[in-house]
Amino acid sequence: MKLLLALACSLFAMSSFAYSAAAPQTFRTKAGDVKITPLYHASTLIEAGGKIIYLDPAKPAKFAGSPKADLILITDIHPDHMDPASIADISKAGTEILAAPAVVSTVKTAKPIANGETKTWQGWTIEAIPAYNLTRSPAPGKLFHDKGRGNGYVLTYGGVRFYFSGDTENIPEMRALKNIDVAFVCMNLPYTMPPEEAADAVKAFHPKVVIPYHYHGSDLAVFKKGLEGTGIEVRLLDWYPQ
Ligand code: ZN
Repeated sequence: MKLLLALACSLFAMSSFAYSAAAPQTFRTKAGDVKITPLYHASTLIEAGGKIIYLDPAKPAKFAGSPKADLILITDIHPDHMDPASIADISKAGTEILAAPAVVSTVKTAKPIANGETKTWQGWTIEAIPAYNLTRSPAPGKLFHDKGRGNGYVLTYGGVRFYFSGDTENIPEMRALKNIDVAFVCMNLPYTMPPEEAADAVKAFHPKVVIPYHYHGSDLAVFKKGLEGTGIEVRLLDWYPQ
């Protein structure tokens, strides 16, 4: 029976690439644990030192009953990243919001952080990294994400560096990142990049762990295969719970 079960599990793992269902990921740092929970697509909950941070809280992630935010980080103006209703759901007196400058005209309480800027907050260092398209466009002469508008973030806590790519392609600024411990990297067409390009970018900056997020419709097997033999740990998590 045990053998049958093991066999069934291994077959299941082979056929489904062994997704873990939105399991919180805990990372040890010198300042204590950082717990990161996938919520949906790009929406992420980050907990450390008794503080609650949300990255890109947006529908259809549900925030009723969720802990209120001490800090909210927003990468861009599109509704899968900037959602005033979700921001309202998780806000309390004293919630701080840091966002790409283009967000601030809609989310009036946000403070701007532009590409290349660094801020500190409650033991965290927050670096805004460019996030943009090189080629993918909705129409001739346009890009889905213009250079300079959106942010990725490198968030450092207790010496551990977490990267969230935002919506981007395989840009030189990503390839040049240094000393990233855990990278959350987008991939989805037509808006960002296909999984083989994402793998190529990740190879260039070589994080210890990479977790695809914002990957709707992408073949993560292709991404994983692209990083085989590199020593980079690829963690596939379910960012699209029913
Ligand atoms: Zn997006």
